[in-house]
Amino acid sequence: MKTINDFNFNGKKALVRVDFNVPQDDQLKVADNTRIAAVKPTVDKILKDGGSVILMAHLGRPKGEVKDEFSLKHITDEVSKVLGTEVKFVEDCIGEKAEQAAADLKPGEILLLENLRFHNEEEKGDRDFAEKLSQLADTYVNDAFGTAHRAHASTAVIAEFFPSTKFFGLLMADELEAIDKVLKSGEKPVTAILGGSKVSTKITIIENILPAVDNLIIGGGMAFTFIKALGGKIGTSLVEEDKLSLALEILGKAKENNVKVYLPSDVIIAESFSNDAERKESDIYTIPEGWMGMDAGPKSRDQFNDILLNSRTILWNGPIGVFEMSNFAAGTVALGDSIAEATKLGAFSLVGGGDSVAFVKQFGYDDKVSYVSTGGGAMLESLEGLELPGVAAINK
Ligand code: AMP
Repeated sequence: MKTINDFNFNGKKALVRVDFNVPQDDQLKVADNTRIAAVKPTVDKILKDGGSVILMAHLGRPKGEVKDEFSLKHITDEVSKVLGTEVKFVEDCIGEKAEQAAADLKPGEILLLENLRFHNEEEKGDRDFAEKLSQLADTYVNDAFGTAHRAHASTAVIAEFFPSTKFFGLLMADELEAIDKVLKSGEKPVTAILGGSKVSTKITIIENILPAVDNLIIGGGMAFTFIKALGGKIGTSLVEEDKLSLALEILGKAKENNVKVYLPSDVIIAESFSNDAERKESDIYTIPEGWMGMDAGPKSRDQFNDILLNSRTILWNGPIGVFEMSNFAAGTVALGDSIAEATKLGAFSLVGGGDSVAFVKQFGYDDKVSYVSTGGGAMLESLEGLELPGVAAINK
């Protein structure tokens, strides 16, 4: 993997693709600066070498039109604050103004270009647009893991204009290493926990990770499709009726790969999909009519805990209960505790993909696991075994 650590940026201008697609409040101020902070190590290294940094990013979905609400000028102050250096802003990403601002940039300085998606060509992966961007700098760095699954002009196409001066940023390198640590070089036993609502969105992930894992814990809404396929009574729990035979197929494949599959043995059930609904514990195979499974029960939590404390590598994707409702969050909280404890004991733990990342942040587990991925879709596609266009473009 060719990273920025393999190059001295002294006197060079680096065009760095970052993921600054941050949440904003109603005043358009940055509501969560995690994504900005995540690229600081990359920026610091380039500046320390004596180089200058041109940041390029997108924000929201302006769909090729210039719209003030999507302007990166609204986040420039926060970027300056987080990076600890005053960041200059230029109101376009190509053309005369951008070229002048880039040309004026001195070593140690940072320039932020206006939203790439104000130009339709960005998302189309337009080669001419990529070439114009490339003319702003001598080197190209991709540190935008969150958009690495898109073959856009600034994330993939542009790399061809820097045949020997294209590098992964340090955030990208960390993300790719974390995935490798689980899927390629994970110390055994390797345990994956997959939760969330639907089997259908996780099938490719399950199939791809089976050869790499020893234990597979399936929880959350998707567990009920498996339980029903195995002959259980699941009441009104979430189920994908058209995936019952697929669920059995997955269990068969797991067996062929010598993967032990664990489903919850008990659940917290509710009379309706509401936090205030009447609730009680139930065996997962005998849920009464009219009741639905909402969270992992105490026996399941204990069993998952035992498995996790005996694991050396852990991958977690998807909550194992409806954690957004406080009365049904305990199972996912217990799981977070178990993963934190296993990590303390020396296991490597990776949390990746949408809702489990939201969960670890909201409940304060982000410092208690080894790595929390910054990329939702990009992480899911990596777990599916796909080579991300942004990664392929640098490796080529
Ligand atoms: P996904 O986007 O497929 O990863 O699903 C995440 C969602 O699954 C979260 O919003 C959870 O509330 C939901 N979820 C977890 N467990 C259950 C369950 N037992 N029934 C319904 N939804 C669930």
